[in-house]
Amino acid sequence: MKIKLERISKAYHHNFVVKDVTLVINSGEFLVVLGPSGSGKSTTLHMLAGLETPSSGTIFFDDGMVNNLPPGKRDVAMVFQSYALYPHMKVYDNIAFPLKIRKEKDADKKISNTAALLGLTALLQKYPKELSGGERQRVALARALVRNPQVFLMDEPLSNLDARLRLSARGELKKLQRDRNITTVYVTHDQTEALTLGDRVAVMDKGRLQQVGTPNEIYQKPQNTFVAGFIGTPPMNMITIKPCGNRSFVSGETTFEFPTPLPVKTNCILGIRPEKLTVVPANEPSLIPGLIEYVEYLGHESISHVKIASHMTWYVKDTTERTRVGELVGLKFLPEDTHWFDPVRGERIAN
Ligand code: ADP
Ligand code: MG
Repeated sequence: MKIKLERISKAYHHNFVVKDVTLVINSGEFLVVLGPSGSGKSTTLHMLAGLETPSSGTIFFDDGMVNNLPPGKRDVAMVFQSYALYPHMKVYDNIAFPLKIRKEKDADKKISNTAALLGLTALLQKYPKELSGGERQRVALARALVRNPQVFLMDEPLSNLDARLRLSARGELKKLQRDRNITTVYVTHDQTEALTLGDRVAVMDKGRLQQVGTPNEIYQKPQNTFVAGFIGTPPMNMITIKPCGNRSFVSGETTFEFPTPLPVKTNCILGIRPEKLTVVPANEPSLIPGLIEYVEYLGHESISHVKIASHMTWYVKDTTERTRVGELVGLKFLPEDTHWFDPVRGERIAN
């Protein structure tokens, strides 16, 4: 099933919480909607499910307009943030419920397979109140996955799982969706989920679509400073600069020398990812001088917090153990690793 949103908006009391969203989700695609809390992700998903009606715009499932089609007629399976299970039914019957009402064959086999996939086999005879939050969430996921709908709609379905379970659940979910080729819209505020699960990622902020692209495109070519700052841990380092001369720029009261002619001639925002910066001793020629204020040791890598000249902290991610707190250093980068944005609108302007 192909899904198309055409200029979809939703307002509550004249306040737009979703504004002018146009998006095509291809048949069989796993699309992740990523954004901070309150950005309008759940509202968008609810409109696809038929639980909310758009204030304006059109939603198509394949070629049919579904704006006013009730949820039960859309053949979608939903998993919500708040995993409402039937409290009086055992886990097995909760998972079986969507099959029972459809009188499916092989129900028992499907249920045990899905339960096994999500590590629920030992819990099938328990009641929801006997389960942890993470276990309940997996039951809710199983109840959706046991079906074979045209569309999966999932709203932060892994948010209550611990880190290890989340990793395995991500793997299972992705495998299952790929095997069955069911169009999936998956909402999350977690960039790791978005980058690992999505065929494409749609980034939202303040009700508006900021960028739609493959995980690689979103990471390598963020279209604006919001996407650049939202994706990546730590996020992209950014600094507002004023070019002066062919190769030098000013930020605050400090002048920096760029290694090649600057690709921009007007005021702009320069961005560099933490893993694209190299720390060199202060006496080596470098682009940006700084003071190491703090180093987070993460085992396989460290994140250094470097106070740069203009009262700003930049993050450097590296795998060496050279950097020490209190050291004066220089930060080096390659011109091809820079991102340039318009200082007013925040849009990508070069590279
Ligand atoms: P997200 O899922 O990205 O966190 P939501 O779609 O849940 O965001 O909400 C977007 C905004 O819309 C929030 O500011 C929220 O308070 C508001 N909102 C959601 N539902 C309603 C409603 N029924 N009435 C009024 N405001 C709502
Ligand atoms: Mg939400």
